[in-house]
Amino acid sequence: MAEQSRPAGASTRAAIEQTERWAARNYHPLPVVIARGEGAWVTDVEGRRHLDALAGYSALNFGHGHPRLLARAHAQLDALTLTSRAFYNDQLGPFAEELCALTGKALTLPMNTGAEAVETALKVARKWGYRVKGVPENQATIVVMEGNFHGRTTTIVSFSDDKVARDDYGPFTPGFVSVPFGDIDSLRAVLERESGVVAVLLEPIQGERGVVLPPAGYLQQVRESCSAAGVLMIADEVQSGLARTGETFACDHEGVVPDIYVLGKALGGGLVALSAIAADERVLGVITPGSHGSTFGGNPLACAIGHEVIAMLSTGEFQAAARERGAQLAAGLEALTGHGVTAVRCRGLWAGVDLDPAIGTGRDLSYALLDRGVLAKDTHGSTIRLAPPLVATEADIGFLLTAFRDALAASAS
Ligand code: PLP
Repeated sequence: MAEQSRPAGASTRAAIEQTERWAARNYHPLPVVIARGEGAWVTDVEGRRHLDALAGYSALNFGHGHPRLLARAHAQLDALTLTSRAFYNDQLGPFAEELCALTGKALTLPMNTGAEAVETALKVARKWGYRVKGVPENQATIVVMEGNFHGRTTTIVSFSDDKVARDDYGPFTPGFVSVPFGDIDSLRAVLERESGVVAVLLEPIQGERGVVLPPAGYLQQVRESCSAAGVLMIADEVQSGLARTGETFACDHEGVVPDIYVLGKALGGGLVALSAIAADERVLGVITPGSHGSTFGGNPLACAIGHEVIAMLSTGEFQAAARERGAQLAAGLEALTGHGVTAVRCRGLWAGVDLDPAIGTGRDLSYALLDRGVLAKDTHGSTIRLAPPLVATEADIGFLLTAFRDALAASAS
C-alpha cells in the first residue's frame, strides 16, 4: 500500500518541514498538521476535518475544548495559575478531596505527567517497604509485567522490554523483576521466591501494547496475591482510567481496589498536564516534607481543571457513553474479522485491532484512514489502536467504521 495517496498542501508541507528542521525527531507523526479541535473532530491547516480516533492517547477523553472545562480553565487563568507548593493555593484542597472521594482513598499526591506519577508510586512503594514493611535497606523489589508501558524516565525504561524505548539509556535502575502479563502462577512464584518485594505494578489493560486484556479474574488474583504476600498493588490507570473502559477505572470491571492508583492524561481534561497517585494514609503517609515534589505539581490551574473533570465523571455519563459507543465500535470491528482483521480486543471505547499482514502494516492503514478523514495510530507493527473521545456520537463511530472498512478494502485490492 502506498503511504498517503492524497498529496499534502503547501501549508501542511511548510509546517512539517519547520517541525522536522527544529524539533528533535523523537516521534514519527502522520503527515497532517492540526490547527483546531472541537469535540471528537479536528481541523487541519488545509481546512480538512478529521475524526480524532486517538484522542491524545486517552488524554482527550472529554474531546477537544469541552465547554465546561474551557469555562473553568478561563476563570482560573484570570484568577491564579501557579504558586508552587511553597504556599497553599485555594484549588488544591478541593481537588484533592474530590479525587480521594473518586478513588476511595485517603490521600493524593499531584504531579504533572503520567511518568512522574508512576515514579511517585515507585518511590512511595520503596519507602513504604523500608519504613513500614521492614525491608532491609536497598533490597526493595518491584514486580512489573512483560510488555508494560509506564512512560519514558530512566527508571521506567529500566524495566521496559521495548528495545526502542530502552536501548542506549543504561546503566539502568535495579530492583525490578518482570513476569508475563496475565500469568498468575508466575507472579505467585516470584512473590514466594523473592523476599524484598514491596509492590506489583501493572496496567489493568496494556494500552500501548495494543489494548491487551488480561484473562478474566486475573486482576482479582493479583489483588489476592498482593494482599496475601503483604505487598502493594499499584494500578497504572494513566491510560485505562477515567471512563475510557466504561467504568471509572479499569480495575472496577473486576471489583478490584489497588493500594495505589496512578492517574494522568484525562485528569487534566486534555487542557493541562495533571497526574496524581492516590492511596491510603498507611501508604502515602510515608511521604514527608521535602521527600518528593514538583514545581508545577498541584498548581491551581491544573487543580481547577482536574476538579471539573472529577465533577464530570461523577455523573456517570462518560462511563455510559464509553459502554454504548464501545459496544457499537466492537460490533462493527468484529464484523471485519476475516476481512483484513485477525483479532479485535475492546473494553469500553478502546480497541486494539490486529491486522492481517497481507493488508500491510498498521502504519499503512493509518495512512489509508487519514485519507478517509480518520486519525488513528498503529502500535507494535500490525496493530491499530482506536480510542475516540467519549463525546463521539453514534454517527461519528459509524463514520469511523465505514472509513476502517473502506481502508481495509482499498488495502486488499
Ligand atoms: N502509564 C501509562 C499506562 C501510559 O499509557 C503512559 C503514556 O502513554 C504513561 C504512563 C506515561 O504518561 P506520560 O506520557 O504523560 O508521561
